[in-house]
Amino acid sequence: MILADLNMEEMTAWCKSRGLPGFRGKQLFQWIHRGADFPEMSNLPGPLREQLAAEYTAQPVRIREQRVSRLDGTVKFLNALTDGNCVESVLMHYHHGHTLCVSTQVGCRMGCAFCASTLAGCVRNLSAGEMLGQVLCANRYLAETGDPDPRVHNVVLMGSGEPLDNYDQVTRFLRLLREPEGVCIGLRGVSLSTCGLVPQMRRFAEEDLPVTLSVSLHAPNDRVRRQLMPIAHTYPMEEVLSASRYYVEKTGRRVIFEYALVDGVNAAPAQAEELAGRLRGLQCHVNLIPLNDVPERGLRGVREEQVQAFLHTLTACHISATRRREMGDDIEGACGQLRRKILTEDGGVS
Ligand code: SAH
Repeated sequence: MILADLNMEEMTAWCKSRGLPGFRGKQLFQWIHRGADFPEMSNLPGPLREQLAAEYTAQPVRIREQRVSRLDGTVKFLNALTDGNCVESVLMHYHHGHTLCVSTQVGCRMGCAFCASTLAGCVRNLSAGEMLGQVLCANRYLAETGDPDPRVHNVVLMGSGEPLDNYDQVTRFLRLLREPEGVCIGLRGVSLSTCGLVPQMRRFAEEDLPVTLSVSLHAPNDRVRRQLMPIAHTYPMEEVLSASRYYVEKTGRRVIFEYALVDGVNAAPAQAEELAGRLRGLQCHVNLIPLNDVPERGLRGVREEQVQAFLHTLTACHISATRRREMGDDIEGACGQLRRKILTEDGGVS
């Protein structure tokens, strides 16, 4: 069992089940969410700390490697899990505070043509505590590097994995984030990105977890979408858009559509017009992402002029759109790139 998976109520019940007073649950919960290990838990009796340390791990995630971008200070972490697997997270510094991009699975099984995370398939789901652990590692890094504001304020679920393919643990993680005695991150500062799992999107709309929903669209129609995203064979774009509309209705929040521009595939001005037609009347914003080249798949990004032309066409059609800032370009910032690089160097992934 991973203690970091438990919410405060469960931690209290767990302590009681071991014959401990209930308030130990709160203490344990607070320490774990501050990123502490058992020896640091100074208000717990020594023998209890030793006993817990013999049986459990307080922190299920450790930083195995970190790379700091010389361009913008973005930090890419390779995080080790207790079973030897590892996942990436990326810490970005924005004016409105530190943002952490977390992984939700080891690898991914969605098979998107441009994505490095999915090249070796999905190894396993992460537990809620392992997602939280990535936040705790980043907080610890910020404290240790003397950052004047040593906490993550915003979380984006855009690392490796498809969050809605790990539905129960992801929703548990979101609830852990906002626990008052925990890291206390408001869900208004959280974005969840999905490749468009329609039934889960609809279910998620009803959870009362008001995060920003990002939908990876990447195409103006099903024909192009199927070239890039196998999931488009299961859920046609119209159903994805309809589930997005439902999310807007239920939460009152606009949906973000992500659109990675791939040279010769989805980046022509006529495709921008087609996209605008499909999105008309939907309360949304389009985030244009210049593709990070994935040489293994032979897909290339576009030139800046093409990004600007696409953006201009969308805007002229009254679709709110921006070009996403690229961060950490010099440190394998894109999905799955660092993990893949390091595992390949280790001989772990072929
Ligand atoms: N599985 C989720 C979240 C993870 S990926 C999803 O599909 O949305 C986060 C975003 O990065 C997605 O929009 C994904 O399509 C995009 N992405 C993946 N590989 C990329 C690449 N090589 N270049 C640009 N964007 C990429």
